[in-house]
Amino acid sequence: MRKLVINKDYLTLHEETYSAFIEEILGLLSKGESVYKIGGTKGSRKKTNKVWLRALTKGEQKFYGRVLKLYRKGNFLTMELGGLVELCKEFDKLYTSFPDKKLTIIKNNLKEIFNYEKFGEGMKLKKETINKVQCYTWISCAETWSAWHFIKQLNARMCCYCNAETIFSLLLNQPCPGVEEKGSNRKAKKEDYKRSALDHYIGHSKYPALGLSLYNLVPACTRCNTNIRGAKVLKYQNNIRPYEESFDDFFRFKYFMKGGVEFQDLTEDDIGLIVSQLDKDGRLINVEERGMNTAQFFHLEEVYNQLHRHEAVDTIRRYTLIPEARRKELEQHYPNIGRVVLERMLWGVDCDRNSINQYRLGKLTLDLLEQLGATSQDELDRIWQKW
Ligand SMILES: [Zn+2]
Repeated sequence: MRKLVINKDYLTLHEETYSAFIEEILGLLSKGESVYKIGGTKGSRKKTNKVWLRALTKGEQKFYGRVLKLYRKGNFLTMELGGLVELCKEFDKLYTSFPDKKLTIIKNNLKEIFNYEKFGEGMKLKKETINKVQCYTWISCAETWSAWHFIKQLNARMCCYCNAETIFSLLLNQPCPGVEEKGSNRKAKKEDYKRSALDHYIGHSKYPALGLSLYNLVPACTRCNTNIRGAKVLKYQNNIRPYEESFDDFFRFKYFMKGGVEFQDLTEDDIGLIVSQLDKDGRLINVEERGMNTAQFFHLEEVYNQLHRHEAVDTIRRYTLIPEARRKELEQHYPNIGRVVLERMLWGVDCDRNSINQYRLGKLTLDLLEQLGATSQDELDRIWQKW
C-alpha cells in the first residue's frame, strides 16, 4: 500500500547473479550455436551433456540477437516498470515475425533463460565442461540470493494490493530464540526457505523475458495474486505502480452507518465500508483515477465488506469508547511507554501512514480513525505532542 523500495545493493546482487549468463546464452543462440546443459540418466554417476536450447532458423537467431541488443541497452533485470512497459512494445513487434507454434517455442526458451522459477527456488547457473563441451547447470544460491531474500529486503509484511493478508519470508527448522538446542548451528536447507508469492505486474507468460525483472515482481497475497487477478492484465497506464507511488495516497476506506445505533451496541451488520476518492472533508485525495481502478481490479470494497467489517467495528468502538481523557491517563501512568507502543496498544497499529505496510489492515484502521476525527497526520501529531 505504501511505495516499495528496492535497495541498490540488491539490484546489483541480482544483476551479478544472473546477468552474465543471460547475455552469454542469448549470444550463443543469436550465432546459431546450441546451448548445452548437463544431462545423464538418474542414478548414473557419469555426467553427459545434452542440448538445452537452440535457435534453428535464421529468423530465430535474429530474434535472439535483437533481444540481446535490447538487453545490453537496458538491463531487463533491474529496469524500472515504465521501461519494461516500453520493452513490451518492442517484444510485440518482434513476435509478429513468427507463427504461433514457433512463438511458443521461443517464449519457452526465454522462460528458461530468464528463469523466474529458479530464482524462486534459489538457484543460479554455473558452467562446467563435460566431454569437452561447455554445459550449464543450476546450483543453489538459496543462502545468498533468491525471491526469498528479495521479499525480506522489501520489508513489507502485508500484501501491497489489499493490506489485509500477510507477506512473509520465513526460515523453518530454526532453534527458538533464546533456547540452546542440540544442533542449533544447523545450516538452513534450501527447502527451509518459505515465502509468499510474487505477482508479475506484467504477465510473464506473454513476456517471459521480464520474468526476472525485480521491478515487475510485487509481493502479493494468494487472494489478490491468484484468486482475484489470475491471468488478467493489469495495465500500467491505468493502475497504481507499487514501486513508483503509494496506493494509500489514492483513496480512503470509509464507514457508513446503516441505522441509528449507539456506538457501544454497534455490530458489523450495522455498518458498510466504501472505497472513496474523497477525504473526510469531501476533498479529492488524488485526481488520478489509477487508485480507484486498482481498488476495483482487486475488488477491495467487496473484500473488505465481506471479510473485514468486524475489524472496522472494533476500531470504531475503540475510538468512541476510549475517549481522549482515558488515553491521557494511560500516558500519565506509563510515561516511558512511547507514542508508537501506545498507538499499537490502543489501535493495533502505528499511526504513521508510512508504516502501513507493517500492519494488517493498517490502512483501514488509519482511514477510519481519520474519518472519526482522530487522525489527519497533523492532528495526530498535535494530540500526541500535547500529552
Ligand atoms: Zn492481497
